[in-house]
Amino acid sequence: MHQLLDDYLCKKYPKIFVERNLSPQESCMHWGLAVGNGWFFLLNTLCHDIQSHIDSHNDCVRKGYDWAVKAGEIPQFVALQVKEKFSGLRFYYKGGDEKIAGMVSHAEDLSYSICEECGQMNEEVGRNTKGWIQTSCKRHARNSIDFRTNVNARKDELAEIWRKVRQDEKEAAEKAEKEFAKERGDKNAYQLMFGDETKV
Ligand SMILES: [Zn+2]
Repeated sequence: MHQLLDDYLCKKYPKIFVERNLSPQESCMHWGLAVGNGWFFLLNTLCHDIQSHIDSHNDCVRKGYDWAVKAGEIPQFVALQVKEKFSGLRFYYKGGDEKIAGMVSHAEDLSYSICEECGQMNEEVGRNTKGWIQTSCKRHARNSIDFRTNVNARKDELAEIWRKVRQDEKEAAEKAEKEFAKERGDKNAYQLMFGDETKV
């Protein structure tokens, strides 16, 4: 991930990335967020949800709410290593609770649908089937010959549904453009007959 984006996340979530400035012998976080820029928003949302959950729960413990005191404080979630493996996000950590474990697992699953280079998330995202496998859009595929989109790989009706959706979108855009051109044409005709309306 670009240094500026890495810095931004580490500064925004200092408790989560507390190991970022340790030596390579002390923590894998020394190497930073070892994923592409395309997963920035995925990580930003994940870290936001995790820290908010911990802070609000532990605040309730401090205020002495029965249910929160009974559950106990949630240990601070700390990132141990963030990297890409077999085309998916891997987020190793310590601390947190069951809910946070679910959040991390969900983000890791989502990464398989998001281009690691540019963040695109639609029916054109997939992966190459040979070599270094990476989740990407068609444009950022490492090897376009072996590239397969997630939707087509499923071999179900979804590919056909998306094709129809894109066709409908294209037709609607063309129709809107035609109507706009007609309106603009009418305006031009008015101006030819009566001059610039703004001078009236
Ligand atoms: Zn891309």
